[in-house]
Amino acid sequence: MSSVGKGVASASIGKILQGRGYSVTAVKADPYVNVDAGTMNPTEHGEVFVTNDGDETDQDIGNYERFLDAELSSTNYMTTGRVYLSVIEKERNLDYRGKCVEVVPHIPEEIIDRIKKAAEKNKAEITIIEVGGTIGEYQNILFLEAARMMKLENPGDVIFVLVSYLPIPSKVGEMKTKPTQHASRGLNSAGIQADFIICRSEKTLDTPRRERLAIFCGIQKDHAVSAPDVSTIYEVPLNFEKEHLSDKILKSLRLPMGKKRNMEDWKKLVNTIKNSRQTVKIGIVGKYFRTGKFTLIDSYISVIESLKHAAWYHKHKLDVHWIDSQDFEDNASTVKKLAQYDGILVPGGFGSRGVEGKIRAIKFVREHGIPYFGLCYGMQMATIEFARNVANLKNANTLEVDPKTPHDVITINKTQRSNIEMKKYGGSMRLGAYRCKITPKSLSAVAYQEKIVSERHRHRYEFNNKYRKILEQHGMRFTGICPDNDLVEIVELTNHPWFVGVQFHPEFKSRPLRPQPLFREFVRASIRHKRKK
Ligand code: GLN
Repeated sequence: MSSVGKGVASASIGKILQGRGYSVTAVKADPYVNVDAGTMNPTEHGEVFVTNDGDETDQDIGNYERFLDAELSSTNYMTTGRVYLSVIEKERNLDYRGKCVEVVPHIPEEIIDRIKKAAEKNKAEITIIEVGGTIGEYQNILFLEAARMMKLENPGDVIFVLVSYLPIPSKVGEMKTKPTQHASRGLNSAGIQADFIICRSEKTLDTPRRERLAIFCGIQKDHAVSAPDVSTIYEVPLNFEKEHLSDKILKSLRLPMGKKRNMEDWKKLVNTIKNSRQTVKIGIVGKYFRTGKFTLIDSYISVIESLKHAAWYHKHKLDVHWIDSQDFEDNASTVKKLAQYDGILVPGGFGSRGVEGKIRAIKFVREHGIPYFGLCYGMQMATIEFARNVANLKNANTLEVDPKTPHDVITINKTQRSNIEMKKYGGSMRLGAYRCKITPKSLSAVAYQEKIVSERHRHRYEFNNKYRKILEQHGMRFTGICPDNDLVEIVELTNHPWFVGVQFHPEFKSRPLRPQPLFREFVRASIRHKRKK
C-alpha cells in the first residue's frame, strides 16, 4: 500500500551500505505523468523538494539526501512524463534511426539508461532504485518492466526488495502475512521475484511468520526483514542492522563485505532523540492546514525535519504546532495566542489565501520580540509587514497578491512576467542553488561563519531593490545578497532578539547530524526566549 515507508526503507538501505564503505546513490521513479513535482499542489503530492541543480522533485529525494548526507541532482529523479518526453524528443530528432518507437522496449530502455546515468554521475557502486506506487497497479508497470529487464541483463548485479505492510487487525490481534503473499505474487506476475521483503508492521516479525513468508513468497527465511513502527525514522537503519541486512545484501550482490559496520554517530543521534527531556515549542503559521494531519506533515517535511535536527543539536525535543493563518483573518484578536510559542516560523507558499493572516502574525512576533524565521514567502511577508507598519508604505504588497499595489516591495522581473503571460509555468521559477554573500556582524554571519554560502531557491517573485534604502532607514538589514544578480537573499531586523527572513529554502540542506545553520540559530534563540519567559 502507499505510505508504507518505501522512501525511508530505500534511504535506510542506502545508509547501511554506506556504513560498509560503499558509495551509494538513490533514484526515485515516480509513476505520474507530470514531468516534475513542481506543478502539483502540496496537498496533492506533499512537499516539492528542490535539488542543487534546480529540479523540482518528490520528497523522497529529501529523505535520500538526509540519510545519505549527499547532494543529489535531476539524474536521481524520473517520472513517467519525463521518460516519455525524452523518448518523444529523441524520436523527433531521428535518434531511433527510422525505427518504429514502441512502449516496450523503448520506454523501459530509456528508464534503464537513466538509472545507469544516475549511477555514473553520482559515482555510485550501489544504486538504490525506488519504484513509486504499489504492486498490482497499472501505472508503474513500465518501471517494473525496466527492473525485470535490468536483472535479465545483469543477473548477479540486481536484487529486488519488496516493502510490504503486515496488518494486525485489532479484533484478531495477530500479524497477518496473506496481503504480503499476494503482493509477492503480484510482483511475480510482472516477472519479478523478490529477494528480500521488508515487513512493515506495528510489531516485530516472529519466527513462524518468517517461515510462512519464506515458503509462500519464495525467499530465504532470513530475507524477511522485520521493520516495526519506530518513534523516529532515523532508527530504521539501526533496526535493519540488528538483522545484519547489509551483510545479507552484500552477499546477494556478491560484493566483498567491505568495512566493519559503522553506525556509531547515528546511534548517538537516536539516543539524543529518545532521551532529550526539555522541549522547544515552535509554531508554524501557514495555509494548507485544513486538509488533515497526514498531508500537512508531508507538505512541510523538510521544514519539520530541519527543526528537529536543530532541536536535537541543542538536546531538545521539538514540539511543533500548526497555526492556520486564516484564523487571524477571521478574528484578529486571536493573534495573541502566538505569545505562548518559543519561536514562530512562516514557511514558503503561493497565492493570496491566508496572506493577510500571516502578515498579522508577523506583526505580532515583531512587536513582542518572539524569534521569527521566514522562509521564502515567509521572508516576503515579513518585508511587506515591515514596509506597511514600520516604514509607512501604505498597502505595500507583493505583485503576486496585489498587481495594483502602490508599493511592490516584492516584485517580478521581465523574464518571470513573460513566463506567466505565456503560461510557461513548469520548471520556470528561480530554481536551485545560488550564491549568497553574507554581511559581517549579522545574525546570518553568526549562524553561517562563512562569507559566501549557497542555498536553494524556488520562487518567482523577488525583493524590489528600489525599497532597500527606505526599509534600511527604518531598521531592516539586508544581510544576504546574491553576488551574481544583486538580489536580496536575507533580511534581518535590528531591535529584535532574532528575526530573519530568507528568500531561499534552507530546509533542503539540513542533515540530521549537521543542522542547517539558520535553523540551528533560530532554535537556539527560541530556547533562549523560552527561558526568559
Ligand atoms: N510565492 C512566492 C514566489 O513565488 C514564494 C514562493 C515560495 O515560498 N516558495 O516568489
